[in-house]
Amino acid sequence: MSKLNDRQREAVKYIDGPLLVLAGAGSGKTSVITRKMAYLIEKCGIPARHIAAVTFTNKAAREMKERVSSLLTGRDGHGLTVSTFHNLGLNILRREYQALSYKSGFSIFDAQDAQALIRDLLIQNHGAEGDKADLIQNQISSWKNEFILPEQAERMAETPADMLCAQAYIRYQSALKAYNALDFDDLILLPALLFDQRPDILDKWRNKIRYLLVDEYQDTNSAQYHLVKQLVGGRSGLTVVGDDDQSIYAWRGAKPENLALLGKDYPHLKVVKLEQNYRSTTRILKAANTVIANNPHELDKALWSELGVGDAIRIIRCRNEDAECERVATEILDHKLRSNGRYGNYAILYRGNHQARLLELKLQAHQIPYKLSGGTSFFGRNEIKDIMAYLRLIINQDDDNAFLRIVNVPRRKIGTSTLESLGRYATEREISLYSACEEMGLEHHLNESAVTRLREFTRWLDELRRRCYEEDPIANIKQLCSDIDYFDWLLQNSSSVAVAEKRYGNVNILIESLKKMLEDDEREDDFESAISRLVLRDLLERQQDEEESSDRVQLMTLHAAKGLEFPHVFMIGMEEGLLPHQNSIDDGMVDEERRLCYVGITRAQRTLTMSYCAKRKSFGEMTDCEPSRFLAELPQDDLEWEGRNGEVDPAKNQKRGQETLDGLKNMLAGL
Ligand code: ATP
Ligand code: MG
Repeated sequence: MSKLNDRQREAVKYIDGPLLVLAGAGSGKTSVITRKMAYLIEKCGIPARHIAAVTFTNKAAREMKERVSSLLTGRDGHGLTVSTFHNLGLNILRREYQALSYKSGFSIFDAQDAQALIRDLLIQNHGAEGDKADLIQNQISSWKNEFILPEQAERMAETPADMLCAQAYIRYQSALKAYNALDFDDLILLPALLFDQRPDILDKWRNKIRYLLVDEYQDTNSAQYHLVKQLVGGRSGLTVVGDDDQSIYAWRGAKPENLALLGKDYPHLKVVKLEQNYRSTTRILKAANTVIANNPHELDKALWSELGVGDAIRIIRCRNEDAECERVATEILDHKLRSNGRYGNYAILYRGNHQARLLELKLQAHQIPYKLSGGTSFFGRNEIKDIMAYLRLIINQDDDNAFLRIVNVPRRKIGTSTLESLGRYATEREISLYSACEEMGLEHHLNESAVTRLREFTRWLDELRRRCYEEDPIANIKQLCSDIDYFDWLLQNSSSVAVAEKRYGNVNILIESLKKMLEDDEREDDFESAISRLVLRDLLERQQDEEESSDRVQLMTLHAAKGLEFPHVFMIGMEEGLLPHQNSIDDGMVDEERRLCYVGITRAQRTLTMSYCAKRKSFGEMTDCEPSRFLAELPQDDLEWEGRNGEVDPAKNQKRGQETLDGLKNMLAGL
């Protein structure tokens, strides 16, 4: 408690009713949540298992958990839930799936799986082109986030296009059910729906979660809002913290107005505002405040800091993207050497993942260790998708998507016509492809060799399943990889032996994560739930974090940086069309981009450097770029421009970068 200011302490100690902490960036909102969890456990005697804190990203959840653990002694924190909304939803579904007529071992479809399913349904049932799948998937996801069910969507449809979407939604939900599968949005939607339908189950969960704390509340969507409201009911056990200026997920259905709704839902809501920022220097804070002042405001927040004026904010104009990435790399090398600091003190933030590619190359060229968050996902890799499909099929035979993915990986000579017959039979009988394999025989116009192969396949997998449940699953998953000669398959399908080895290494990372999950007593995951949880990536990311040395430059999108802080921040690509993004300019949604810019600026503790390019390659051609309007909105007295209006010649700039680098290399060689 000693480190808290009066208002924070007030927020931590207030347990008599629902509480909202509404405050700007870096004012200690997340700190209030972590301190409050410790307070509830240690001072109010609420057992940790009755307390749950939710946030949006795995990384934020991990950081929060670490902060709480460091505040608690011994096993006081045992059973505490600190997770993402999705993980909380999964916890609920793992226990209540039967009430929703799901079977155990349900699969979780990622966006790619979901899109493939929607595409198939469109082609089969609506005579529509599969290329609409993307659009329809987005619409379905929006409906789910808005807590709109398929039948409601159908009733609301006004145009033939709406109707097509709504019918696809209906078919999609029943196909998911048939596959014993659900998608990411269902992890929130289904628990909320269940709580609506089953007061008895809701009661049970209200009894379990007696105190709920929500971070980044401004980014909750309607389904999440509904879930929170249900869980809390009329009780007092709710603390939410948020900042309307940091609402950056409207495109994913977030409703910042949920903040205002709290006042209506809980007439006795207490609101605490925090104004002291403990993260950034005055100049960085002023920059953030000045930019965000251009957005319409309901509540003005006057953030101040005692951390000193700090350095001016540097704005660097670069010739092109290549020069920009090179410059950032040399800046980091230079600064790190001069300040004798760590790589981990630097973060490079950007609007879109595509901006990371060139950056990675430059960092590699300079041998700067870095960690890329998000981006090309581990779970998007073919080798991981293959093995995950096997695992999914082991726990859920109805998962036709998984079946189709691996039935011929490696080649089992089960041809297209056999698969088509299987598909027809399965549809007629309303059974899974896997069951069709077991049932179909010569009388169904399959030839003898096809029947033999199908039987061999299911017999082998049945035996594997039995052993995974009855014996050590990890040993048996390793056995699976060797039974199918997976390394050999990778060799045949990779450009070199080294690539195949790397890919096989990824499979081993996956298996190791699963192993750790099964060994983690606190989580109490069994084989089935560990596999479904794997899809949520949480543990895998944690393991990667642990394995890689933490001294790395952090690369991530502005969205992913929310809630985090770094001593030195670079925001690259400060151009019209990138930040603000062209789509937002076209749709008149620049306010949300400004909030994103505010989030970026407020990640910085000590220095902030922004860069933009004079030219950038766009659709294969070099085009002129215009500096972001947000640069003009910054407090000009606190900026140090470089390269603009001939103040510094861009070519010289480049040369300077090179000179710094040469100097550094010489220095390093001399050490
Ligand atoms: P954001 O809006 O970016 O999520 P936040 O409001 O959640 O920010 P925190 O991350 O909780 O802010 O806190 C910002 C920094 O300030 C952290 O490093 C935290 O440890 C520190 N901090 C918070 N409160 C205090 C305090 N009373 N005294 C000293 N440091 C504090
Ligand atoms: Mg926070």
